[in-house]
Amino acid sequence: MIQALLLDADDTLFDTGSAMLRSGSGVAAELWPHAGPVVWDGFARRFRDDPEGEFGSYTRGEISFAEMRSRRFAASTAAYGLALDAGLRDRFEEAYHPRFRTALRAYDDVLPLLEWAGSVGLPVGVLTNSSDLATAAKLAAVGLAERLPGAVVTRDTLGFGKPDARVFEHACDVLGVGVSGTLYVGDDPVVDAGGSYAAGLWAALLDRSATTSAWAGRRATIASLAVVPDLVSGATAGEWSPGQDLGRRTGHR
Ligand SMILES: [Mg+2]
Repeated sequence: MIQALLLDADDTLFDTGSAMLRSGSGVAAELWPHAGPVVWDGFARRFRDDPEGEFGSYTRGEISFAEMRSRRFAASTAAYGLALDAGLRDRFEEAYHPRFRTALRAYDDVLPLLEWAGSVGLPVGVLTNSSDLATAAKLAAVGLAERLPGAVVTRDTLGFGKPDARVFEHACDVLGVGVSGTLYVGDDPVVDAGGSYAAGLWAALLDRSATTSAWAGRRATIASLAVVPDLVSGATAGEWSPGQDLGRRTGHR
């Protein structure tokens, strides 16, 4: 039985990746007006994609949130030969966050899921590798703060993040349901789906580019959050019987 639902935040509840590109490119155009749109977009994409893996260092508790962003900014400016000094980095941060919050959008399948969970009395929590401050700002920006007032566990809660099993266990404790009774949904195959499965939860990988959803055992790949009620109702034994959704709802975004 599934008795609680735990959701990733970035690119599961809202379109963080797209908002990062729009805000990063917009701020780059302000800071380096003569560089041109190819550089502005490239800078923003590199800052988001983080090829050095600084976000991973942050989630393992090795560096602070500010240091993580500072390193990504420095690497991205260097990659495009852009001028960099401490004042410019501060201007980037000041200009970036308002643009990011304005650009951020909750996916259309989030509110229906939360309303369904409320109607059936299923506790819902958020477990994210972002920081307390950033997560609160994002939930507020998309109007979800009041909808998810209870269990919000971030990388700051324990000082490290997913895929460490301890953060999944802690989030389940906060929800008041054991790991074996909790479904985790997130968009990252390793950090979310792999981590939650290894920690003993039911694990659903959200792949919004997929056209069908399928589940078996305690793992699922779903194209939309609209499939989650089927996953919950189908978990009557200790694992899912093999099943699939052929996409009748996958256009729902
Ligand atoms: Mg995510």
